[in-house]
Amino acid sequence: MLHPRTIARLDATLSEIADSGVWKDERVIASPQGASIAVGGRRVLNFCANNYLGLSSHPDLVAAAHRALDERGYGMSSVRFICGTGDIHRELECRLSGFLGTEDSILYSSCFDANGGLFETLLGQEDAIIADKLNHASIIDGVRLAKVPKERRFVYAHADMAGLEECLRQAASARDRLIVTDGVFSMDGDLAPLPAICDLAERHDALVVVDDSHATGFVGKRGRGTPEHFGVQARVDVVTSTLGKALGGASGGFIAGRAKIIQLLRQRSRPYLFSNSLPPPIVGAALAALDLLEKSTERRDRLERNALRFREGMEKAGFELKPGSHPIVPVMLHDARKAQALAKDLLEEGIYVVAFTYPVVPKGQDRIRVQLSADHDDGMIDRAVAAFTAVGRRHGVVK
Ligand SMILES: *Cc1c(COP(=O)(O)O)cnc(C)c1O
Repeated sequence: MLHPRTIARLDATLSEIADSGVWKDERVIASPQGASIAVGGRRVLNFCANNYLGLSSHPDLVAAAHRALDERGYGMSSVRFICGTGDIHRELECRLSGFLGTEDSILYSSCFDANGGLFETLLGQEDAIIADKLNHASIIDGVRLAKVPKERRFVYAHADMAGLEECLRQAASARDRLIVTDGVFSMDGDLAPLPAICDLAERHDALVVVDDSHATGFVGKRGRGTPEHFGVQARVDVVTSTLGKALGGASGGFIAGRAKIIQLLRQRSRPYLFSNSLPPPIVGAALAALDLLEKSTERRDRLERNALRFREGMEKAGFELKPGSHPIVPVMLHDARKAQALAKDLLEEGIYVVAFTYPVVPKGQDRIRVQLSADHDDGMIDRAVAAFTAVGRRHGVVK
């Protein structure tokens, strides 16, 4: 039984959430994840998944998951260091570092866990940590767990390199300095200025950590992520990323980077040591995803063309977009009610997109965030642009 005091407190918090406009309702999908999904008893086109390469229900991945299930079973019933390390787990780690061009890598249950286990392991009281203001929640939580004292935790304004340099100066007396940034920021789809970050890191003797969850598999000409896009692969010390987005979309995360760092993580990183090993079907499917990506860049190329086609269509229709080339395309509406009304009407038109409003984005920056997938074809993209145009006209957003 909950005490009335506890009930009252929970009710107050729930009302607060509802009143502030951030209450999250979940739409139920009754089909596999894909470009076209069943929602509310009908088919709609999905433009809000992280299914960048269209691998979530790809037959090769499904078959590989089945095969791993048959050959290696359902679960490992162990953490890695007791009896949870399968041959395919080690194979996946080698393949991931081979793909990204790093010395080694280590698997986690999620990228959230990877970020939760990195900073505490790598840094101590004598060290400093310097983070972009808009970093992902899992980085923020991971940083919280580190023993770095308050006066050596720095946050610079988003992508502000003068701000970063000032933090590095203030951190000059620390033993080690570590800069951490998202490779791609999920609300705007903008890329971290990695060349400038690596320059500053070298000048001020700092480590560079990039969370490339919204980039691994498709950003960069061969899909190796933001370090490849900027040509700084050798200058980034650690990449954290997810198997839950472009690389199949199930779950799982990893850290790839310098061998010494990975070695220490295997000995000390708490989410790695004290949480279960990834299930074989996920490992098998992730290997199949890498097979596909190493064979051909066709999917990431199509994704790039899809993002361009959508951006061009929407700009021609008169919509304001956040500039860029990432498959995250923010359609700016600057009004919470308008953003929500458009998203609702678009769903009626068979286009599933989501509105992001204050306080999830800054005041006046209300938007619909569209995400393209390699599984979209030209017809789907044109239908989305046509629906946006019709609904946008209805709401006086475009002429
Ligand atoms: C999605 C995301 C994560 C979390 O990934 P999971 O594997 O789902 O835990 C972490 N960091 C960033 C930047 C992300 O976008």
